[in-house]
Amino acid sequence: MLNKLTITELSSKLRKKEISSTELVSACLNEIKKSDSKINAFLEVFEQDALKQAQEIDNKKDLKPLEGIPIAIKDLILVKDKKNTCGSKILENYIASYDATVIKNLKEAGMIILGKTNCDEFAMGSSTETSAFKKTVNPLDQTRVPGGSSGGSAAAVAANFVPVALGSDTGGSVRQPAAFCGIYGLKPTYGRVSRFGLGALASSFDTIGPMARSAEDCAWVFSVIAGSDTKDATCSTDAAPELIHHTFPQIKGLKIGLPKESLGKGINEEIKEKFDQALQKLEKLGAKIEEISLPHSKYALAVYYILMPAEASANLARYDGVRYGFSAHANSLIENYLETRSQGFGNEAKRRIILGTYTLSAGYYDAYYKKAQQVRTKVIEDYNKIFEKVDLLATPTTPTTAFKLGEKIDDPLAMYMGDILTVSANVAGVPAISIPCGFDKQKLPIGLQLTADHFEEMKLLQAAKAYEVLE
Ligand code: GLN
Repeated sequence: MLNKLTITELSSKLRKKEISSTELVSACLNEIKKSDSKINAFLEVFEQDALKQAQEIDNKKDLKPLEGIPIAIKDLILVKDKKNTCGSKILENYIASYDATVIKNLKEAGMIILGKTNCDEFAMGSSTETSAFKKTVNPLDQTRVPGGSSGGSAAAVAANFVPVALGSDTGGSVRQPAAFCGIYGLKPTYGRVSRFGLGALASSFDTIGPMARSAEDCAWVFSVIAGSDTKDATCSTDAAPELIHHTFPQIKGLKIGLPKESLGKGINEEIKEKFDQALQKLEKLGAKIEEISLPHSKYALAVYYILMPAEASANLARYDGVRYGFSAHANSLIENYLETRSQGFGNEAKRRIILGTYTLSAGYYDAYYKKAQQVRTKVIEDYNKIFEKVDLLATPTTPTTAFKLGEKIDDPLAMYMGDILTVSANVAGVPAISIPCGFDKQKLPIGLQLTADHFEEMKLLQAAKAYEVLE
């Protein structure tokens, strides 16, 4: 079945003309037609455009490595002339007037944008349940969430609708749904991939990353989307890494640190068990494992949930019903602002706007926002120090496996606590990957998270590939 193959396999078949891009795209479309009415991964599928592009590619003689391969895009990343809702009613009919830089890069590489995937509203959530449009379910157990906020992208890959998808990760939204759906998800270094054209949640944390069926597939797409971009002032000016030619399995001799603060209570026993087995495998592959300490990481979740809403409240101020998006009918300008935002935003967005505005307000700024920034620096210093001693860090990706639909949606604190193992990498700006490492007794997938120093994605992907070969 073509839909189950990796990019590496598909690329070789396409270039040898053993399969056509039209066949591949049709296979994906058929699978979507068959099952997406149950999974709800996509908000929109670009059937005609995709088939047309595939046909043009099939008429060409020499193909670039990723040419003719379909990809799904989280509906937070702008694709020119297509709707971009960010999962929110306030952007329900918003049509993007330009391509995000990552989309421009994918198009130049010849990839086929197959559709836009469902996500939590403005990427706020861990279950995709805050989307204003539909509830995506986990393809491995349809009574459970796919994770979030890039849940549609994870489900699209896990349900064999596409070989790869893009997600965004501000506090774990690529890695956690990857873990819940049993696939690979890479969160790059902050600034390694341009954010131009990404709907902003928290601008000092936001990253865009690939979600796929193998570490190498993540490397393929990462090497296309990474690189400098003058349109994003925080984007690194270094050239994109020529990763794919170097993504051979390599782990021997690497020092892997186990942050003792991350492995305490709150992590489900079966996950601990599988994590221990994963460590044994890493040792067998020649890695040296040692316990280390990141003393300030215990504050990372609190830091994240102060700074992220502060940035989100500022970013969401632009949705005022005047410039673009939904606009409520009203008799005065102020009433128009109030009605547009009251009707347009869902509960989670409103909660974060209120929290963020509060911590930025004159009387509380020093106590919350400024203090959290100071502690953020401490967390970053911990990582800088530890990466002088070890190459990678290992933890589980999540404290639990995929939970039931509806289980946490009315308990925001419980939902936020689930991000405890992923947010630190965003607070520090370092890259991290989630790798499938087995299943619990209910046959739900478990993720192993590896974290590296800034701009060391190659080390992460090589280690992930070595682990994958052994699995
Ligand atoms: N679950 C986290 C939150 O709700 C992370 C979201 C994300 O990475 N976009 O903020």
